[in-house]
Amino acid sequence: MAIIVQKYGGTSVGNPERIKNVARRVLETQQAGNKVVVVVSAMSGVTDSLIKLSREVCPTPSEREMDVLLSTGEQTTIALLAMALQGLGAKAVSLTGAQAGIVTDGVHTKAKIFNITPKQIHTHLDGGSIVIVAGFQGQTSAGDITTLGRGGSDLTAIALAAALEADKCEICTDVDGVYTCDPRVVPDARKIDTISYEEMLEMASSGSKVMQSRSVEFANKFNVLFEVRSSFNQNPGTIVKAETPGMEDVVIRGVSIERNQAKVTIEGVPDKTGTAAKIFNALAAANVVVDVIVQTAPHEGMTDISFTTNKDELKKAEPVLKAVADEIGARGVTQTAGVAKLSVVGIGMRTHSGVAAKLFDVLAKGGYNIQMISTSEIKIAVILDEDRIADAAKAVHAGFGLAA
Ligand code: ASP
Ligand code: MG
Repeated sequence: MAIIVQKYGGTSVGNPERIKNVARRVLETQQAGNKVVVVVSAMSGVTDSLIKLSREVCPTPSEREMDVLLSTGEQTTIALLAMALQGLGAKAVSLTGAQAGIVTDGVHTKAKIFNITPKQIHTHLDGGSIVIVAGFQGQTSAGDITTLGRGGSDLTAIALAAALEADKCEICTDVDGVYTCDPRVVPDARKIDTISYEEMLEMASSGSKVMQSRSVEFANKFNVLFEVRSSFNQNPGTIVKAETPGMEDVVIRGVSIERNQAKVTIEGVPDKTGTAAKIFNALAAANVVVDVIVQTAPHEGMTDISFTTNKDELKKAEPVLKAVADEIGARGVTQTAGVAKLSVVGIGMRTHSGVAAKLFDVLAKGGYNIQMISTSEIKIAVILDEDRIADAAKAVHAGFGLAA
């Protein structure tokens, strides 16, 4: 009998009707002759409201207690889904992360999985039960409850699929799969049939967040093939897997955009060893997350260093930058919100030339001014004005022939 791991996210189990819908789908999967392990998230909004609740009793709650609190969200869903399945006459059992044998390190609120001993899962599967596992949680070897970081149910599903050597892992969510661009931005975006782990990670880091990135990294490391598909219909989704030779034939797999970015420039930075280190160490110490970084060629002993960050980070960054600019003797700091990042992603870039030229051509024809450029082996990203970013995405999507 094949083992199938299915994960249902918060929206998919967001109310009693939806939990019953999931129960029906899960039961059908079992009735088709499979052993089924289901991983569920907390019902949509629950984790956020638990976080809010914690802040109402204490401004800086301890991370250990946060984990005890947050793990209850998923624990609610596993019990409700088991009940719904039992209501359909199915044999079902719910297990917390700890009961499922998920052992993590002790880094509360963002623990890493050490190992999984799915003995109980196997016993219940062999006894004919559908096994429902709480996502996003585990326990330390000392028995403390831990959680795996926001979106961590994806990681639970992928890791369980690896540990159980599952025949199939399905990430069931509120979209039909991974698209060539966000369909709300580009209406003729197409669902991608197959995408490599690397492309999926680049798309996620460029703003197309379908899954938690850590879970895709884990899948890549342990070679877990999985499918992202809808919880609400039976359409085939997107297969995410290791790269195969034919995958390079497609030059660009997708376009993604990330809004709400800001550009910061430290002007007149003395061209001396160690200045960049000083700037970015100061930002790191203040927990400011930096994205694209560009340094201009030195001119009369000075350079300009620019970087982008989320617009919400500006408040944190401002005092830090002022202090560090004084310290290194820079001329000043300017910041502009209202920029966005547009990225084209595809492993085909490694073997096709002229991708950057084509992107810049399309943008030039549309009159979009490029403010910054950054590249990786499989991605070209540009920073543009935010107010026309959707139109730019449409133009680039069409320019690379991605439209349906
Ligand atoms: N409930 C957790 C969160 O909202 C984990 C998850 O949904 O995957 O981040
Ligand atoms: Mg979620």
